[in-house]
Amino acid sequence: MSDTPFSSGTNPLPQSFRSALARGLRGHCPRCGEGSLFRKWLKPRDACPSCALDLRPQQADDFPAYIAIFVTGHLLAPVIILLALDFALTTLQMAAIIMPLAIAMILFQLQPAKGAVIAMQWWNGMHGFKRERADEVASP
Ligand SMILES: [Zn+2]
Repeated sequence: MSDTPFSSGTNPLPQSFRSALARGLRGHCPRCGEGSLFRKWLKPRDACPSCALDLRPQQADDFPAYIAIFVTGHLLAPVIILLALDFALTTLQMAAIIMPLAIAMILFQLQPAKGAVIAMQWWNGMHGFKRERADEVASP
């Protein structure tokens, strides 16, 4: 399916890895930027509804969860230190504040992280994705 030639219409191929990554973060196809990557929350479509990019080669696996946990841990570490040093909270009180916050942050990040991982795999032609890029733009 990915052998279908891609016509560069209103949304041409991304000019940079950053652009492809931004499309993936928004849950859009990294190639055209129009079609939705996901048919359910974390379930990618088989193909982009807009440009027919075959999305079955993606192998995000656990990487989006690692990213979400890594980012959440780094964002919450100062909060935990602040709560521990400036407030006399019990362990149960700390857990009551931190656990729901951590779960919400991780759930919020999972889909964008998965979209970004799929975009990274597509950009680099990994796992059966065909590597297709616009003409390389000279970096400033
Ligand atoms: Zn597409």
